[in-house]
Amino acid sequence: MTSHDPNLSRHPSKGLLGWLRGAGREEDMPQEDEGRDTSVVLDPRRLARSQLLTDIADFLLAHDLEINPITLGVAHNYLTGGDGSITRSIDQRIQSRQALTLEWIELILRENGGDQSEFLNRLMNRLESNIEAFDRTSTAAKTAASEYGDALSAHVDGLEEMKPASAPADTGELVQELVSIARTMLERTASLEKDMARSMLETRALRRSLEQARRSAEEDHLTGLPNRRAFEHRFASEFASARDAGDQLAVAFCDIDNFKRINDEHGHEAGDRVLRNVASALTRISDDRCHVARHGGEEFVVLLRGRSLHQAWELLDDARAALAERRMVNRATDMPIGKVTFSAGIADVFSFADSRAALRAADRALYRAKAEGRNRVIVAEPTPEERARSKPAGK
Ligand code: GH3
Ligand code: MG
Ligand code: MG
Repeated sequence: MTSHDPNLSRHPSKGLLGWLRGAGREEDMPQEDEGRDTSVVLDPRRLARSQLLTDIADFLLAHDLEINPITLGVAHNYLTGGDGSITRSIDQRIQSRQALTLEWIELILRENGGDQSEFLNRLMNRLESNIEAFDRTSTAAKTAASEYGDALSAHVDGLEEMKPASAPADTGELVQELVSIARTMLERTASLEKDMARSMLETRALRRSLEQARRSAEEDHLTGLPNRRAFEHRFASEFASARDAGDQLAVAFCDIDNFKRINDEHGHEAGDRVLRNVASALTRISDDRCHVARHGGEEFVVLLRGRSLHQAWELLDDARAALAERRMVNRATDMPIGKVTFSAGIADVFSFADSRAALRAADRALYRAKAEGRNRVIVAEPTPEERARSKPAGK
């Protein structure tokens, strides 16, 4: 048995009767004056959160939608009435009895414009904090319900013992009645405790799905590398922290040479395997100061921190040379694919006004690398205007 409030023990009728008085009202669980905060059990804000989570789950199940950042975001938006135009499109779709598919949702998100990845990110954060708060609440509520059940059970036994043999008959009946009401409440508390335990498990499963969805939203499924979205977040955070710490930062754009020919001659699947090989060649240079991501198609980006532009160039050029030394074979047909190379442009980020300008310059240098014969890494030179813009006025 759990230890319980000494005040309740000394005055069995005070706490119990006080609570029984309000037993007909669902929201009246014992309050802090009983020495134990069980108000978490039925706090309306928390109940609303738990309801929202249930509604989101119901929405996704009803429309047979998988759990991913997009569907979670849209369900949250729809159920909380966030973005009117998206809500209207969904309502029309439902009214016309057409299926809510992921493809259709992605289409309306694109049509609604805006920075959807940021929008989804914000929604994911809100969902995550809702789930965390709900998990904390469920845990606290389950403990409170369990402690309350123990305390109640102790007092029910106490009440039965309180009934003296010589007491008038109506006192006996009254006590009997109280005991019976208390037993009913005991059952309700036990069932509440069971519900809370189930909610806790469901919430934890939901949180795991959300974490998985978040990870998968930032990963390129073909190569396992971070995708463009993850890269953009990483670039923004490294840009700010390298600038504050006075570290150097370089960014490179890499593109496989004549990749179309590999697809044409060996098929798309062989092309995919080549893409994975190039990804792993680039991964070999990655560490906590060098981040490689797939930007899209056969293009990769590399972020190099804490190295001079020349050192960064050297590291990337070594990776290029190592790849160019290898000869690949099409595993499915044993046909030689031969040499696979990439070209790259690399830019010293802080020689440009901002991260976007640096990335554009790296892309320009990449096209020079292509024009000059491919299989090379070229350093981006800021234009005179870019040079002027990157320096604060007066310097
Ligand atoms: P360059 O040297 O100028 O870069 O020539 P390229 O042939 O590599 O360039 P281009 O942009 O013409 O072709 C890129 C090709 O990459 C076209 C596209 O079909 C292919 N591609 C993009 N993504 C994938 C993918 O995920 N898998 C496969 N197998 N091919 C892809
Ligand atoms: Mg390309
Ligand atoms: Mg290419």
